[in-house]
Amino acid sequence: VISVSGLSKSFKMEGGNSVLALSPMDHHIPEGAFVSIVGPSGCGKSTFLRLVAGLEDASGGTIDLATGAIRRPVGFVFQDAVLLPWKSVRDNIRFPLDTSGVKRAAGNARVQELIDLVGLTGFEDALPKQLSGGMRQRAAIARALADDPPILLMDEPFSAVDLLTRETLNDELLKIWQQTGKTILLVTHSVEEAAYLGSEIMVMSPRPGRLKKTYSVDLPYPRTPDTKALPGYHA
Ligand code: ATP
Ligand code: MG
Repeated sequence: VISVSGLSKSFKMEGGNSVLALSPMDHHIPEGAFVSIVGPSGCGKSTFLRLVAGLEDASGGTIDLATGAIRRPVGFVFQDAVLLPWKSVRDNIRFPLDTSGVKRAAGNARVQELIDLVGLTGFEDALPKQLSGGMRQRAAIARALADDPPILLMDEPFSAVDLLTRETLNDELLKIWQQTGKTILLVTHSVEEAAYLGSEIMVMSPRPGRLKKTYSVDLPYPRTPDTKALPGYHA
């Protein structure tokens, strides 16, 4: 569903020099895959996600998103949930629907469904500051899913969350993946988390950032939390 061909990115620096953040990359990500992306700081993980999201223009090569989406093809979850502080959980999650003109009544049912999906039932009227960090990330996930993008991009979504909550959120995310059949790309600094979640792991190396190796797993997916045991990955 995502085809990357010769994709590269360099950033212009002050003084006219440019830094190569991503060396030309070729890769294909099949529909419904859960791709974990790991690699040292500065290797271009966030840059790659931002290119897929269209938040950044490529310096070379192409990205094809063959999703047939009528609205946004991708939802994005950032490291720190950027919820609107003056809006309730419900209104934050509804926000993408409002901006894409979905009718209130249709939106209401959708928003409640998402709140239930991410386990925030009962917190509909809470403000972001009344939630824990883990709960805010759940709300951010629901918001990213609101207008049903076929691709979900997550940049270190749980790095500010304690380990126990993180484990719970990992299982929640597997459940969401299973229930929605979305293609998920998740950047993490935890190799353990990458192996736990991913049907595929992309390993990147720095200076200049490039895709070093891809591992995929034979297990049928979507996987359930029961089939999570670290399986044999093959390159
Ligand atoms: P981390 O694990 O620390 O989040 P990362 O793998 O996400 O790192 P990127 O943020 O993609 O790394 O950065 C890759 C390279 O591109 C780095 O060398 C960084 O300095 C450079 N870079 C990223 N964004 C910009 C920008 N807007 N302007 C200039 N250079 C940038
Ligand atoms: Mg990053």
